[in-house]
Amino acid sequence: MSKVNTVLGTIPAEELGFVSVHEHIGYGMPGSELDTTWWKSPEQRYDETVPKLRAFREYGGSTIVDATGICNGRDVDYYRSLSEKTGVQIIACTGFVGGDTALAHFARASVEYLAEVFVHEITVGIGTTGAKAGVIKVGVSRGGRMTELDKRIYRAAARAARETGVPILTHLAIDAENAVAIFQEEGLPLDRVLFGHVDDGVNAPITRDTWIAEQGGRLGFDTFGYETELPDPPFWARPRKERLDHFLGFVERIGIDRVLAAADANCSPLGWPGVKGHTVNYLFEQLIPDLKDAGWSDAQVRTLFVDNPANFLTIKN
Ligand SMILES: [Zn+2]
Repeated sequence: MSKVNTVLGTIPAEELGFVSVHEHIGYGMPGSELDTTWWKSPEQRYDETVPKLRAFREYGGSTIVDATGICNGRDVDYYRSLSEKTGVQIIACTGFVGGDTALAHFARASVEYLAEVFVHEITVGIGTTGAKAGVIKVGVSRGGRMTELDKRIYRAAARAARETGVPILTHLAIDAENAVAIFQEEGLPLDRVLFGHVDDGVNAPITRDTWIAEQGGRLGFDTFGYETELPDPPFWARPRKERLDHFLGFVERIGIDRVLAAADANCSPLGWPGVKGHTVNYLFEQLIPDLKDAGWSDAQVRTLFVDNPANFLTIKN
């Protein structure tokens, strides 16, 4: 049986349904939980989050991957409760958004120790929650080049991915030559890696998306909706049409099988106001209508949001 770990248990990949492969229940920089300016009551957190997940379910959404790494506000017991209340299946991750969000305890750790942490969270569970991680998150620190710590985390992730069969999801697809070299040195097939944020407004021009696909990697067009048309767009926003054309052109040239899509939205941001007006439901409210207008069939939409995620997220060992 093809298996995937969700926070409520391991399920067949066929039960994932419509998946958004890169979202956040809540995301904040390490230490934001210590800034009382931003403290929220449990009621506030549920009030901000439950309606978005319920709407996702009503639109036909079924599963989200929470790409919030260790140290960024990951709260697995809370995810379990949300999943039970809304019926949205949630896949939690182990790993780090980037070396620059790993606190000192982890930043000083060896590759062996980090790999052990990741494997434990995938095979035994995250803390005492009993929930097993379904993906490994890694990323490039701010600055544009992989740091020594980023490389240590990528190597540990590659070892954990090989040992457990769980895939890797990256924050940023820049400096991909270094990432690919590490995965190849560790013997990890590149179709187990989703190189994320190839479409964001800052990094898209320097991301070598075609080269990554040629190496066998998967591409995440996963910041859909962060667009300059928003009332208060973030610095990584991009004009809607420009992003859409990038995506459609890529699929035209390379094919649909290597791509995944998501909105990278925050249901209830931690330690910052978030981006108003942007939710995971952008996928249903704007992206899918845009794809239909561009001539996409229901079968193509299904490949993008059902078949490709199931293939990527299935534990392969
Ligand atoms: Zn993200």
